This record gives sequence, structure tokens and C-alpha cells, in this order.
Amino acid sequence: MKKVLILSGAGLSAASGLRTFRESGGLWEQYSVAEVCSVPGFLKDRAKVLKFYDERRAQLAGCEPNLAHYTIAKLKKEFGEKIVVQTQNVDDLLERAGCEGVIHLHGFLPEIRCEACGHVQNIGYAPINGQICEKCKSPKMRHNIVMFGEQAPHYADLYEALQECEMFVCIGTSGEVLDVAGYTRYFKISVLNNLDASRIDKFFDKCYTESAVTAAPKWESDIRKFLQGEAHENDNL
Ligand SMILES: [Zn+2]
Repeated sequence: MKKVLILSGAGLSAASGLRTFRESGGLWEQYSVAEVCSVPGFLKDRAKVLKFYDERRAQLAGCEPNLAHYTIAKLKKEFGEKIVVQTQNVDDLLERAGCEGVIHLHGFLPEIRCEACGHVQNIGYAPINGQICEKCKSPKMRHNIVMFGEQAPHYADLYEALQECEMFVCIGTSGEVLDVAGYTRYFKISVLNNLDASRIDKFFDKCYTESAVTAAPKWESDIRKFLQGEAHENDNL
């Protein structure tokens, strides 16, 4: 069975107004990446890190999915397991667009996790302060987001998708955290959609250098052609 991996990053949600660290040169208001996205930063100032993610949830509540999120949701609904949706984003905009089965490689902002028993619960856009584990009643709750210095449990799903899928559609990621340029060698066809041209463009068969919103109908068409090509092959058997 032909399968497509759609892997997205910050550029997918940037068009919905979600700001990223990269846009602000690694600084975000009074925060630095090292302070709020790393294990040493969390150990040093837990309250600051939890407040940072509270602010990110509050910001997310005010954002809406864009056409690119809706396009991915529509393709997933139509093609089911032939489409593998994985994202580096921690927001819920794909889910709000109606997409099912999204794998969040770096965690999920609406969720918090109990440090005592590991239980994960969804608090939506609420602050973490005062939340207790609904399973063991521990008050020791943290964000359910992978920090630098931690294992990313869903990377196993990513490596499986690299083996299983023949088409790679990479949206809104510059390849600084994941080696998306290197991944292209696993695929027959690779498509990149980033706002800006970059050093990784040359590794992909096709590049759309524009917003995810304006490119969405284009990679949608590429995906349909690829998956529906299989239907024609089967017709000839
Ligand atoms: Zn617990």
C-alpha cells in the first residue's frame, strides 16, 4: 500500500498567528529557549517554565486552524491509514481542524503529566497552577512537552513512517531539530513547503517556497495524484 508521511513544523501554525522562537531570534518576551525548553532550565526554575507554558496555552486559545490544517484533516479523513500525520508542533490546531490520529513528536500543549505516576490529562487552555493528578491526586504536575535533554517517545513512530511511506510532504520546518533533508532518501517522492528558501531545498524533489496556506492546494494535488495513481495501477491488474 502506498503511504504518505505529512510532517509539519512551526511554519504550519505560523499562518494561524502562533509565534515561534525562531521568529524572535531565540528570545520570546522575557524567556530564552535554554530557560524554558531544557531539563536544566526546568530544574533551575520550575515555576518560570510552567508559567511559560500557561502563556502558550492562553495564546493557543485565541488562534484558529488555517487552510493548511483543514487540508491535512480532509486528506486524512479521505485516505485513512494511507496518510500518516506527524507534527513537531505542540498546538492542537490539526485536531481542531478535525484531523484524527495526529502524532505529536514533541508533546502536546493542552496536556499535563503527573510526575508521580505518569498519568496524562488534558486541561485545555487552563493554567497548570492548582491542577492535581486525577489518578493519584499528586499536585506534582508538569507540561507534557519534550524538552531538550529528554527522550522523545514518539520518534519510534517517525522512524517507522520513514520505512513505511513512499511519499514525504514536509511543511513548515527548516530541519534544525529533525534532519528532514536526510529523511528524503527514504522516499520515492519528497515535497517541501517552507516560507523561505533554505539550504535544505536541494534535497527535495519539489519545493513550494510560500506560506502553508497558499501552498496547501498544491501539495494536496500532489498527494492525490500520488495516491490515486495506485488506484489506476490496481485497475490494470
Ligand atoms: Zn498521578
